[in-house]
Amino acid sequence: MPLSNQPISRVAPFVMRSRLPAVGTTLFTVMSQAAIEYQAVNVGQGVPDFNPPTRLLDCVTEHLHRGHNQYAPMSGVVALREAIAAKIERCYLRQVSAQEEVTITCGGTEAIASSIQALVHPGDEVILLDPAYDSYQPIVALCGAGVRRLPLLRPRFSIDWQRLKEAITPRTRLLIVNTPHNPSGACLSAADLDQLAEILRPTSIVVLADEVYEHMVFDGRTHVSVNGHAELAARSIVVSSFGKTYHATGWKIGYCVAPAELTLELRKVHQFVTFSIATPLQYALADFMTEHPQWESELPNFYQAKRDYFNSLLASTRVVAIPSAATYFQLVDYSSISDEKDTAFALRLVKHHGIATIPISPFSEESPVGERILRLCFAKSDTALLLAAERLAAL
Ligand code: GLN
Repeated sequence: MPLSNQPISRVAPFVMRSRLPAVGTTLFTVMSQAAIEYQAVNVGQGVPDFNPPTRLLDCVTEHLHRGHNQYAPMSGVVALREAIAAKIERCYLRQVSAQEEVTITCGGTEAIASSIQALVHPGDEVILLDPAYDSYQPIVALCGAGVRRLPLLRPRFSIDWQRLKEAITPRTRLLIVNTPHNPSGACLSAADLDQLAEILRPTSIVVLADEVYEHMVFDGRTHVSVNGHAELAARSIVVSSFGKTYHATGWKIGYCVAPAELTLELRKVHQFVTFSIATPLQYALADFMTEHPQWESELPNFYQAKRDYFNSLLASTRVVAIPSAATYFQLVDYSSISDEKDTAFALRLVKHHGIATIPISPFSEESPVGERILRLCFAKSDTALLLAAERLAAL
């Protein structure tokens, strides 16, 4: 009898079997929605409240009208990949093949997801350093693999090298590092990369280096990229984000750089996840990068001024700003205001005090006992930063 003719009672009930039973909606989404619902000033999710440079917007319009509206090549528009290769040579003194080592992705998030899926087998282990960005672990879980999460050492959110060595097993396939680090703003040093290279030397572990905040590094520091470390680069995928660098998070465009052997695997996944990335955006970014190669070097001053302005305002509140060396985030300690857990405190702030923030404990397996820290984003207009500080000062 055909299925549709069977009495309804004989059809097996539909059962949903989630592949990610413990995963909810991302905290960034939840907090930004709450900010709208409660009309709060949003210094939570990392999203600028200002536009990309006008010239870049004009380049997009130009390419829309020039007919660049069909599929881009799977791995990215050649002109853009060449502009990226030139940038990597300029910033990190590394020569990469635009053809074989650079892939344009749907933001850093897709680069991360495609990389993990391309490399991690069922039963493998991936090492994460807590607090770790929320997208890493669920993708590892989808691969049927497990994570080992190591806490970064307070107060500097530095790597505990001894624990890292001890966490490595024959099953370890991937180590994910994030520098500059979201949410702490900590940066790995050249000595850190040497240490990492030494630890990984006897292994086949691949490094996934999430460097999406590479061009927001302050106080005269320079970003120490895995791209600039020949030994590590040979076993790494380095992830970058145009959204962060050009104030265009909504364009969802980024890229990753990896040796040909790794890139080949990565593209096998990328081609079936997104196939290719919005064509006019790629041509526009290629033009803008070629016309304004100095953009990245001007970005630190732009964000450092915002950080310093925000910190000067925070000085008249009871939260204590923890120095931020990089990224567009600022951690603050609120222990003099409340002993509530960060998730409860953040919820109270958005509902009753008109300010949306990000609690950091959800990004760790286990947070240090008594840590009372929130993450604030300062990629905002001065008006928004002032309003956020005024609302914090009222607590
Ligand atoms: N990376 C952003 C942050 O940390 C969030 C991006 C997102 O919500 N997917 O706030």
